[in-house]
Amino acid sequence: MSDATSHTGDYQERYAASLMNTFGPPKLVLARGEGAHVWDVDGREYVDLLGGIAVNALGHAHPALVRAVSDQLATLGHVSNFFATEPQVTLAERLLGLLGHGDGRVFLTNSGTEAVEAGFKLTRRTGRTHVVVAEGGFHGRTMGALALTSKAAYREPFEPLPGEVTFVPYGDAEALAAAVTDRTAAVLLEPIQGEAGVVVPPPDYLPAARRVADEHGALLWLDEVQTGVGRTGLWFEHLRSGVRPDVVTLAKGLGGGFPIGACIGLGAAGGLLQPGNHGSTFGGNPVASAAALAVLDTVEAEGLLDAALKRGEQLRTGLEGQDGVDRTTGEGLLVGVQLLDDLAPEVVAAAQEAGFIVNATGPSRLRLAPPLVLTEADADAFVAAWPGVHGSARQGRTP
Ligand SMILES: *Cc1c(COP(=O)(O)O)cnc(C)c1O
Repeated sequence: MSDATSHTGDYQERYAASLMNTFGPPKLVLARGEGAHVWDVDGREYVDLLGGIAVNALGHAHPALVRAVSDQLATLGHVSNFFATEPQVTLAERLLGLLGHGDGRVFLTNSGTEAVEAGFKLTRRTGRTHVVVAEGGFHGRTMGALALTSKAAYREPFEPLPGEVTFVPYGDAEALAAAVTDRTAAVLLEPIQGEAGVVVPPPDYLPAARRVADEHGALLWLDEVQTGVGRTGLWFEHLRSGVRPDVVTLAKGLGGGFPIGACIGLGAAGGLLQPGNHGSTFGGNPVASAAALAVLDTVEAEGLLDAALKRGEQLRTGLEGQDGVDRTTGEGLLVGVQLLDDLAPEVVAAAQEAGFIVNATGPSRLRLAPPLVLTEADADAFVAAWPGVHGSARQGRTP
């Protein structure tokens, strides 16, 4: 890899000249990964504390995932939804089993926003059109999912969006009760808001949402695209509350890096989408389904729910009380770090210099969503590096 194009700057230039500028300039150009570590094209090593935004549950290049994908692709790679495959059916059954619901139906997609689109269309089949959603919530970037996402900067350039969406403050059960009516098709909430910076609602919020939805015959739809599949130390974050949703959306961690999502209707909600109502050429593709099954098997076999709790606890207790840290939030390995000052972008840059990938969700808020296979030593290394990282961020010594 000694030719000039192997260097970060060259790729950044080529990227700028050939890819649409939707994400801003890439911070790094990455070449390979193993476990919770990645290497850039210039050979620098990083501890990946973002995990592809809560996606790489098994870390990078996990042998079980590599084997499952390779074997399935070598056997049967794609067939369209005119036909079924064994991995697709087994995955749907496994997801329903993990949700603790025998009676449900799964629609498989290729991404989170597609899972949300399926959910949104499903809500229309109730015969109602009004949806109540939380401020700060994030549900994706396609037009339907965007209509359900509150951030003005994301929405406004694309209005008009599908209508009859009411936004209420997150975590406020009274505001929710006031917004839901007998014309409401669904209440859509994240059990913990991820993109908002790992915002945890009061413990009685989901139960209250369930009661309010029931009072008005509305569906309770929980978007677990970020929180699901073990991220928070449970298979699904809503299991903590004991609340039974009607609809659950999944994606990010489900395929461990292979694109797959799911919209799951539980009970009667599983029957709302009927033949001809929705479709996808790739959705439920056997390779993606095999990837998801490998993730579920490995989370179980390697005890990664428990690992997520332990490593999450280690990061939180290690960071609490450190320089510039106001408090930490979240469950398991979905960790929010609220800073005392608006230094989050500087901390991200300083952490990268020190060999750690972290993410800023706002001017004073960091998010960590590392692979569930993060080692104790890697978590310790970040905690130990914090004073130096924060010190450089403060001095603005970083780019
Ligand atoms: C990331 C995310 C989405 C969108 O998923 P994409 O795969 O990026 O389309 C939807 N909902 C939640 C809660 C998310 O965190």
